[in-house]
Amino acid sequence: MHGMNSHNPLECILPPHMIDVLKMRGNAKQKRMAESLAKEGLKFRMQRQAAEPPTAYLAAPSVAPGAQPHLEREVYDCQTKATLPGTLVRREGDPPSGDQQVDEAYEGAGDTYQLYFNEYQRDSLDGQGLKLVSSVHFRKNYNNAFWNGSQMSYGDGDGTIFKPLTGDLAVIGHELSHGVVQYSGGLMYRDQSGALNEHFADVFGVLTKQYKLSQDAAEADWLIGAGLFGPNINGQALRSMAAPGTAYDDSLLGRDPQPFHMDDYVVTQSDNGGVHINSGIPNHAFYLVAMMIAGRAWQKAGHIWYQTLQNINNPNASFLNWAEETIARAQTLFGTGSREAILTQRAWKLVGVF
Ligand SMILES: [Zn+2]
Repeated sequence: MHGMNSHNPLECILPPHMIDVLKMRGNAKQKRMAESLAKEGLKFRMQRQAAEPPTAYLAAPSVAPGAQPHLEREVYDCQTKATLPGTLVRREGDPPSGDQQVDEAYEGAGDTYQLYFNEYQRDSLDGQGLKLVSSVHFRKNYNNAFWNGSQMSYGDGDGTIFKPLTGDLAVIGHELSHGVVQYSGGLMYRDQSGALNEHFADVFGVLTKQYKLSQDAAEADWLIGAGLFGPNINGQALRSMAAPGTAYDDSLLGRDPQPFHMDDYVVTQSDNGGVHINSGIPNHAFYLVAMMIAGRAWQKAGHIWYQTLQNINNPNASFLNWAEETIARAQTLFGTGSREAILTQRAWKLVGVF
């Protein structure tokens, strides 16, 4: 059965717990918006259940030394309609369109591609030059962005709770990284493996931004969705890897519910078993590894995590399975007893996984 355990249901940036709070606390307009977002999540899940089950999940091939990149992007304009993909407005190599969301989606897809190609020798999401398709201006006042298994879609936000969702490169890198997970090991979008799927997307989302900005771990903000909240929301971002649980604290949205330690692991049926909540625990472990190793996080910590996804071969991996694989990969990459392997183990102890 390819039902609730689908590898790739609609993978939205907005966590369901935020939608639930808006349903309860929002004004009439915000309640309608939240109810429509919740229904849409269900609709897409059902569509995906009806779709063909995925074929084999294999580690993506590495590009040969000196190979040329196959970056190919298309950006479509939905003109506030809900029909995908919309009208093609910018192809690979086209000059900037002058539409800010079109150009952010185009540039962000390219930045994500460059990180994977240059640093991890991966040629696009599938390792074989898959075209990167993005649609912007999806629906009217739409407060979300998602990867639907074959393309990205971004809303413009309602201007009150959210600004246009293309505004943060970490969000673009996050959503495209769901495609990388889908084409690599695949991590079931439920419970701990689902939280690891969200975690991997957050890690490579922030690494895309750090790579683009040439930032050291200590200079980076480690936020997902920085600057996307509207003017009346009290919060920095959707999530913080440096300090899970502190990204926002707002009278409408409530408080960021992410834990950073296994003592506070949230057992819940909603959000596919808390995939956007408990991801705070491995997120914080990655942050600690990157900060303790120091320097550019995509160079060492990023390689350990990328190789973990490529090698774990366990769609139901638990946090413990993942942690053990990161240590094995750190040993393979940097040596048994290496500083990198020891610090990786220490980080998982600090978040209570060991
Ligand atoms: Zn996600």
